[in-house]
Amino acid sequence: METARGRKYVLLNILSVGSAFLIAFVFLAIEHWYAEKDGFIHDLTIQASMVGANASAALAFGDERAALEIVSTVARSPAVFESALYRQDGKLLATFRRQGAPMLGAEAPVHATNFTGGHVVIAQPVAVEGQVVGTIALRATLDGLYRSQVVFLGSLLAIAAIAALVGHFASRRLRQRMAEAERQLERMALYDNVTGLANRHAFELALDQTIRRHERDGTGSALLFIDVDGFKKVNDMLGHHVGDRVLQGIGVRLHDALRAADVVARIGGDEFGAILVDTASPDDAARVAANLIAAAAKPFSPDGTPVFIGLSIGIAMIPQDGRTADELMHHADLAMYHAKQMGKGNHQFFSDEIGDLVRRRLDIETDLRIAIEHNELYVVYQPQVVPASGEIAGLEALVRWRHAGRGVISPGEFIPVAEESGLILDVGRIVLGQVCRDIAELRSQGLRVPTVAVNVSARQFMQGDIAAETAAALRHNGLQAVDVEVELTESMLMERLEDRRTALAGLADSGIRIAIDDFGTGYSSLNYLKRLPVDKLKIDMSFIHDLPDNAESVAIVVGIVGMAHAIGLRVVAEGVETQAQRDCLTSCGCDLLQGFLVGRPMEKAALVELLRSTA
Ligand code: C2E
Ligand code: CA
Ligand code: CA
Repeated sequence: METARGRKYVLLNILSVGSAFLIAFVFLAIEHWYAEKDGFIHDLTIQASMVGANASAALAFGDERAALEIVSTVARSPAVFESALYRQDGKLLATFRRQGAPMLGAEAPVHATNFTGGHVVIAQPVAVEGQVVGTIALRATLDGLYRSQVVFLGSLLAIAAIAALVGHFASRRLRQRMAEAERQLERMALYDNVTGLANRHAFELALDQTIRRHERDGTGSALLFIDVDGFKKVNDMLGHHVGDRVLQGIGVRLHDALRAADVVARIGGDEFGAILVDTASPDDAARVAANLIAAAAKPFSPDGTPVFIGLSIGIAMIPQDGRTADELMHHADLAMYHAKQMGKGNHQFFSDEIGDLVRRRLDIETDLRIAIEHNELYVVYQPQVVPASGEIAGLEALVRWRHAGRGVISPGEFIPVAEESGLILDVGRIVLGQVCRDIAELRSQGLRVPTVAVNVSARQFMQGDIAAETAAALRHNGLQAVDVEVELTESMLMERLEDRRTALAGLADSGIRIAIDDFGTGYSSLNYLKRLPVDKLKIDMSFIHDLPDNAESVAIVVGIVGMAHAIGLRVVAEGVETQAQRDCLTSCGCDLLQGFLVGRPMEKAALVELLRSTA
């Protein structure tokens, strides 16, 4: 297609230059012919005048010999074939003729200039003192004129040919460079210049083709949406140069792990796509996805230091999971997002349920931003009571979201989204502020308010300055450090313990107490707990629900309580729902009970009632 277009372009070029040259050529040829001819006639005329002037006496006296001598002088001019002198009455007096030249005629010519068959005849009257005494006539061949014209046209053609040749060679480099630029543009439009793989555009073209083919042949393929886990960290910590090398490495491994017929492309920053051509079985697609994940698991070493990355892969089956390339890409992307949610480094197939799940999650993120601005978040309180007396010795603050369209959304659903999107920092600030204001307000009503536990999630703890923020909120409402407590999950504290320790020390230094939430689900050791400024353990409700029948759970609770008391920590049991659980926990020596049995999370108004009734 490209070469046909190129040939057409060259042809057009030749045509336009050629016709311009032709017009110029014709003009120059005509101009040259007339100029040469006029010059030639002029020369002949002068020659005739000179001969005529010399011959006037011979004419006047009818001296034939003298006349012949005079007309013979034209022999010096090679173009002249013949010259003749005529008397006044038109009769020939004398003539000089080259060998083979035709007769000029016995009578004087009538016309001054006359062209006949390759010759020109010039005739001029000869006068003496104003009196015409005869006529001089010269006949000359036009061969010289023709020759000159041919030479002129020949050199014109030669110059044009040389010019065309020089132009052709001079422009050849230009044309080569244009063709190269065109090829490069084409490559840029279809290839990714970091990895050399196909780019998103080319990938979508291939996907379109695959879809159309399956429409005809009724078979299927698999579409893989591949996202690199932890690539941002590589880029941020080691620089874009190293990031690019890692992407190249991933591209090579993906390419090598796939069959030659499969299509692999880089479709975004750290996103790759693959079409497993004619892989209609989800099992086969899953096997390939697992291979790709395994291939990327080996460390890359772009600059000597090993770099570890992972892959999360979403799979959409063609044509079941979408009719258009757009739809399939979107669905594979949703499945990839779900794979990320499932802990990264795995693959997930698209399904309608997963689509809904992910969409709901994405909707939540959008809506949560609005909720924060529109004050749709509020706080409820759940009491923690002393087993023996039933006295309320603590409260846990739990956030709620009253969504304009969907009613109340559980924090279990939106807190993970808030964590991921960073909105948790705003949520945390809102909760802390609300809690402090509520405590101050209840106090001002003369109520005795126990310590309120506030949940702080991992990102809040790592990114925000929890100690400073809490201290500021307390001060702002005229409260003391003992009025609030921070709940941190066990699993969160287990990660990067050393970093955590300084942040925990900051909290402890400002006198804010720390409780470990969901205790028993992580892997904390007594040794590790001893070294942290912790005050409370909250036994995870999964152990409480089994009480009192499950002996193992009873043993765990007894163990936790014994261990905690040994190092001076208090123990809270969460999720207490039945009297039997309560009795069991009481006899195990739990310090505080929390759960639906002793009190559901309640809004401030209900809390006011509760605190009044127990005062
Ligand atoms: P969590 O900190 O373990 O909170 C206890 C959860 O158990 C609460 O769910 C509470 O309503 C529920 N619960 C209390 N008693 C019972 C019971 O007897 N039986 C059962 N089955 N459940 C009981 P909720 O309020 O839905 O909160 C869920 C999780 O959301 C919390 O778990 C916490 O991790 C998180 N969360 C809640 N509020 C906040 C907050 O303000 N900030 C942060 N960062 N996370 C929060
Ligand atoms: Ca909690
Ligand atoms: Ca908990």
